[in-house]
Amino acid sequence: MWGSLDWLYPPVCGGCNLGGFRWCPDCRQQVQLVPEPVCRICGLPLTRPGLCPNCKESIPPYEMMRSWLVFEGPIRHALHKLKYRRNVALGDALAQHFREYVSTLSWPVDLVVPVPLGKERMKERGYNQVGLVARPLAAVNHWRYAPRAVVRSRETRSQVGLTVAERKENVSGAFLGEAALVSGTTVLLMDDVATTGATLSACATAILDAGARSVYALTLARALPHHGLKNV
Ligand SMILES: [Zn+2]
Ligand SMILES: [Zn+2]
Repeated sequence: MWGSLDWLYPPVCGGCNLGGFRWCPDCRQQVQLVPEPVCRICGLPLTRPGLCPNCKESIPPYEMMRSWLVFEGPIRHALHKLKYRRNVALGDALAQHFREYVSTLSWPVDLVVPVPLGKERMKERGYNQVGLVARPLAAVNHWRYAPRAVVRSRETRSQVGLTVAERKENVSGAFLGEAALVSGTTVLLMDDVATTGATLSACATAILDAGARSVYALTLARALPHHGLKNV
C-alpha cells in the first residue's frame, strides 16, 4: 500500500521533513515520553505516585487517561501536519510506533472511538485527523473501529486559549453516544492531544450515558502545565 501512497506523498519525516522516512530515527530519539510517575487516573505527571488534586476532588468519568509523548518538538510538528493534510502514510507510521506504547497499557479494549470534529470543521477539512492514527492502531490490535460511535450534538468553539473552567463549560453536554454501537463495550477513546482532558471527559460521559461498560482515554501527546493554555 505504501508504494502507491509514495506517489501521492513522497516520504518525508513528519517531525523534521527529512526525505526517505515518515518518522525518522532522529525524531524517534528526540521525542519525550510523558515522565513517570503520573496520576493513576488522569496521567498527569506528579512528583510522587498517587492521585492529582483534580482527580481527588472529582473522579473523571473514564477509567484512565494516558498519553504517549510530551507535546513538543517532532510530535508537535507531526500532529500539526496530520491536521492540515490527509497524510494517511504518516498516520500509519505513527500508529506503528504508538502501538508499542499502547501494548504496555494492557487495556481491555473492544472498540476504538475517535473524538469527533464538529460538523463545520469536518466540512472544511473533510476528514478527522485523529482517525488517521486511530484506524490503523485499531486494525493492528484487531479492535473494532467505530468513528461514528460518538458525535457532537452542538458546535463548540476551539478550546485554544480558554481557561480550565471555560474548557469544561465549552464541551459539557456537547457529545452524544450511539447506544447501538457502544452498549456493553469497553471503549478506547482517542484524541491527538490532551491538555486539561475536558473534551475527553465530556466524550467519555456521553459514551457511558449511551451504555458503555467503561471508557479508557488515550492521546498521542500531552500538553503539560508549563505549556500553558494559550496555544493548545
Ligand atoms: Zn524526523
Ligand atoms: Zn489526575
